[in-house]
Formats: sequence, structure tokens, C-alpha cells
Amino acid sequence: MLYFSHPACLEHDPGEGLPGHPERPERLRAIEGALAARDWLGWERREAPAASEEELRLVHPAAHVERIRELCRSGGGSIDIDTFAGEASYEAALRSAGAACAMTRALLSGEAKVGFAAGRPPGHHAEPERAMGFCLFDSVAVAAALAIAELGVERVFILDWDVHHGNGTAEIFRRRDDVLFASIHQGGIFPGSGAREDTGTGPGEGFTTNLPVPAGSEEGLWVSLLEEEILPAADRFRPQLALISAGFDAHRDDPLAECRLDAGSFGRMATIVRAAAAEWGAPVGAVLEGGYALEALADSVVATMSALGEEK
Ligand SMILES: [Zn+2]
Repeated sequence: MLYFSHPACLEHDPGEGLPGHPERPERLRAIEGALAARDWLGWERREAPAASEEELRLVHPAAHVERIRELCRSGGGSIDIDTFAGEASYEAALRSAGAACAMTRALLSGEAKVGFAAGRPPGHHAEPERAMGFCLFDSVAVAAALAIAELGVERVFILDWDVHHGNGTAEIFRRRDDVLFASIHQGGIFPGSGAREDTGTGPGEGFTTNLPVPAGSEEGLWVSLLEEEILPAADRFRPQLALISAGFDAHRDDPLAECRLDAGSFGRMATIVRAAAAEWGAPVGAVLEGGYALEALADSVVATMSALGEEK
């Protein structure tokens, strides 16, 4: 059980340019405070390396990487109404993607069966050429692409249980049949994509599963979608690596959406994924995305890591 993060991820602060921003450093402090109080649940902690620009270029054109680097180098600024990059944000984003990459390397080398990459900024809204939705680079996508390009894996399954559609990850892999992307998300909220009818494009047709749920959705619906729609498809796909785009904003206390999960719901989903992955012989890595109610976020991460760490 390996946990990756880096102090630089605390230095990215969208509140500098967008006061009152919910994606704040305190999120990571709350998570790490809760884990420290529980002796890190027995997980080994590792400092995340910076992702290389080559790794980022597995899913982002060089021009996008350069644009973000230069924006930060010149002091930073707002990219859109809710996405900000300051001077410290480039290093934070490299460490955030680097946490996901280092975790994936460790999982695929057999060092650990489960991992958690706790970086900020989050990543799943970052499209190939566009930072958006608090995200600069799509960390989980970089890690999945790295696994296939360099680590000898042919099939990666990404489950995105953040309450928002993972539009960036979906765009990055929509034409590919080597990454099975499945997202459960609240319909009708940011970013507006992720219709059930969108199942991928061209050779990627059938390798994207979008499952929007209504406001007020509870654990029962989320779990049944996971068990009855997503996992049967994943079973047929036989992934060699399972990554979770782990946002915790479907929690009932979260201020950004209206679903009604609780910390135990995330633990339950993690247990289900872990059990399925054991059948596939695949390791499982979770990559932090959203989650904006501090206590709910911390409790949900603890529940997820506890479930992932349980020996079967
Ligand atoms: Zn979210």
C-alpha cells in the first residue's frame, strides 16, 4: 500500500486569484491530518517526483504544457472563471501528475497492489489543449498513457467516481480501445458533458461509459451502476491496471453538487473495485480529484484507503 504526495502540492492556491476558491490547500491538509491521526492506516508514504514534460506530452500537446509553464513562470493568472495557476502551480501540477505516474510505476513493478496519489491540482477536467475546472494537466490520463506507452500494459480501466464528468480523460481516450473509461456523475452540472449516448468515437466506440445520475442520488444507485453496468464491461475488457479518478464531491456534505453518498459509500465502491481487480490480476491506484467539504473529504479518503488496503 503506497501513498504518494508532495509538499509542493500545498503551494498551489487558486484563492490567490479567485478569492474563496473551494479547491484550496486545506483539502490536502485535512486528508493528511486524518491519515496521520490513524498512523497512515499502515500505508507507506512516498514523496512524489515531478512528472517530466515528456510524460505530460503523452496526452497534452507541447504547446499546452508550455502555455501553463510560461503562465506560472510569469507570475500566474486566471485561465477561466474557475481555473487559476499561480507561480507555484506549475511545480504542484508536475508533482500531482508525478504522484500518479510514480504510483503507476510502483503498481506495475509489483511493489504494491494498491496505491493512492494525493496531489493537487486535480486533473480530470483538463482536456488535451485546455486547462479547465480547477485542472491543469490530466494526471490520471498521463498515468494511464504512461502505463501503455512505457510500462508494458495493453489495457487500462479508469473508473471516474468524481461527481463531475471527467471530460478531460474522456476526450483524451475517446478514440482509443486500450483504455476503458467509465464515469458516474451528476447530470446537468459542470462541465455539461458525459451523456449516456456518448460511448466513444471511431475505434474507441464502446470504450467509454457515461452514467449520469440525477441530483439526490444515493449510494444504492451509484453501487448498482458500478456493479451492473461498469464492472461487467470491465470484466470483458480484462484490464491489467485499474485506476480510480477519485473525487469525493458526491458526498452529501459537498457544496458543489447534490448527490448523497457518505464516506462509507466510497469505501464500499473501493471494496468492489478491489475485488474485481483481484479477479483480473490487476493492481488498483486511486488518484485524488475533487471533494470540497473538508471533513467529508478526509473521512472519505480514509474510508477509500481502508477499503483498498484490506487483504482479501
Ligand atoms: Zn468534481
